[in-house]
Order: sequence, then structure tokens, then C-alpha cells
Amino acid sequence: MMDLAPLLHAVRLSAVLCKEVQRHHITRSEKTGSEPVTIADYGVQAILCRALQQAYPNDAVIAEESARQFAELVTPEDRQRITQLVAAVLGESTDEAEISAWLDHGRQPEGTVSAGRRWLIDPVDGTKGFLANRHYVIALALLEDDQPTAAVIGAPHFYGEDGPGALLYAAAGVGYVQSMATGGVPQRLAVSDRVEPKHLRAMESVDKSHASFERMARVRAAAGMDVNLVQRMDSQEKYAHIAAGEAELYLRLPRRPGGRPHMTWDHAPGMALVLAAGGKVTDVDGSPLDFSSGRTLNNHGVVVTNGHIHDAIIAAVQAVLREE
Ligand code: AMP
Ligand code: MG
Repeated sequence: MMDLAPLLHAVRLSAVLCKEVQRHHITRSEKTGSEPVTIADYGVQAILCRALQQAYPNDAVIAEESARQFAELVTPEDRQRITQLVAAVLGESTDEAEISAWLDHGRQPEGTVSAGRRWLIDPVDGTKGFLANRHYVIALALLEDDQPTAAVIGAPHFYGEDGPGALLYAAAGVGYVQSMATGGVPQRLAVSDRVEPKHLRAMESVDKSHASFERMARVRAAAGMDVNLVQRMDSQEKYAHIAAGEAELYLRLPRRPGGRPHMTWDHAPGMALVLAAGGKVTDVDGSPLDFSSGRTLNNHGVVVTNGHIHDAIIAAVQAVLREE
């Protein structure tokens, strides 16, 4: 198994930074497209890119934020606060120029077609959850020849708001979960073996602009599931619960075809965990997710299951789509 230890450490530090931001500094600026972004996004991306630079200096990086956004969208006061927070969490001095260099570490020029090894980073996935003190994760994944083969997800609220948080990671087809706060013996990730439709547990987004609740409820009904056995959660922590065997289905059906594309970093880390745990991830046609463009997925919808129920769920999705 490749050595993920430097990245596990960086994700732990990132979670500390996120908590600090939530406690003291919560502010938001508006990115184009009006997605809320907090100073935590930049701080976390800087910490993760620094770790990648040290551990895997030759790998490419595709990350949600950039030094340019940092310079243009963040006030000088907030840039200074991020810099101070990152320095405090790392326990070493740094400055804005170094933060900016970390933010763009490994970045490929626009339009670069790249195979080989590249890391995808979503520094704070589930920003809306983060701002509302619900679920969010710190997520990164390695793509090798366009396939997610390794990942780390830090989920501070995995065991509840006051719990220790979870660190989930996978490489070489094997996944583990351990307490974020205390470490301890890692447990193997394994999907649940439930197949009885009435007992299947579903997960979906909180934000109704991200997916159609109505279409997803019709799929669950078509599959013979209890439509009320559903938990709404922000971020790709949904994937983590499938990988940990605590739910069997995560559906992401856009409200309309041709809507906003799925971003690769919202799926590659979660997908690596689910695959390592024995589950399955495809689009609504049952086709593999296509990460080759780097930033956006070339697929309609995402279907994540424990594997055992995958064909039945795809059949239910197709039946619902045919009705429309
Ligand atoms: P979730 O919390 O699972 O709903 O997913 C959060 C992710 O949804 C964010 O990281 C965004 O990339 C993505 N997102 C934001 N707005 C939209 C939208 N209008 N449609 C689909 N996905 C979105
Ligand atoms: Mg995200």
C-alpha cells in the first residue's frame, strides 16, 4: 500500500483549521456562480498541497481553489488571517506568497491533457454544510490513468457533531476508517450485504438544487424500497457511509438533464473508498464515471451502491427515466 501517512496527517491538521474557522472567523466571499466559500477552503488547500509537494512532488494536482481566486476574491484582512491560521496549525512560520505557491502547486496549464498520476482536491466539500454546522468533509483522491485508486477523506461530523470525527482512506483496493481525534486501530471498510428492498437505507443531498428529491423518491419506490429510509447529508460523506456499511444507496439524480456538470473532486475520493469497500459506482446508465477531462465528469447522474443491489437500482432508475 502506498504511504498515505503524510496525507492523513495533513487532513488531521486541516480539520483543526476548519474547527478554528468555525469557532472564530467564519466569513464568506462569493465565487463566480455564488457558491459560498470560506477562508477554510484556502487554508485547507494550502495544507494539503504542501503535503503533496513534500510527499509526491512530481504528481499533478487539480484543486477547486486557486492562487488567483485567493488574490482576487479574498480581502487583505482575510488573507492575513488565513496565513496566521495556517502557520499556527502547522507550527511554523509562513507568508502569503508561500500560501499562494502551495495553492497552485502541481497545477497544469488550462487545457493540458494529462494521464499518469494526478491528485484531485476538494478542500471543504459540502461548504453549505460547513457554514450551517452540518456535515462536510476534507477530500482528496489520486487518479491513475483516470481511475480513482487512492483517497483520504476527513469527516469531522462522521460520529455526530461532538464526536471524534473519522479519517477514511483507501489504496491498493483496501480501505480503512479510524478516529480522527484519537487515531487508534484502523477498521477495514466493508459495504453492507443487505439486499432486501424494504431494509435498504438511502442517502441523498440536503440542498434541493443539487438533485431532484422527487425523481429519487420515485426510483426508491420503483425498486420496492421504503421511501422513508433516507438520510439527507451534505458532502461526499454520503460515500463514506456506503463504504462503512451504514447505508446501501447514494443516488444523485439531477433535476434536469444538461444541468450543472458533476465535478470530479466531488466524486473521486468517495468513489475510491466505496470501491475499496466492495461497492459499485456508475452513472444512471450503469456506465463507469469518466474522469478523463480532469475537472468535470462526463456522465449523467451518479449511482452508488453496496454492489449487490446495483443492477436492480439501475433498472429502477431507467424505468423512472422512461416514464418521463
Ligand atoms: P452535496 O452536498 O452532496 O449536495 O454536494 C455538494 C457539491 O455539490 C458541491 O461541492 C458542489 O460542487 C456541488 N453543487 C453545487 N451546486 C450544485 C448544483 N446546482 N447542482 C449540482 N451540484 C451542485
Ligand atoms: Mg465539493
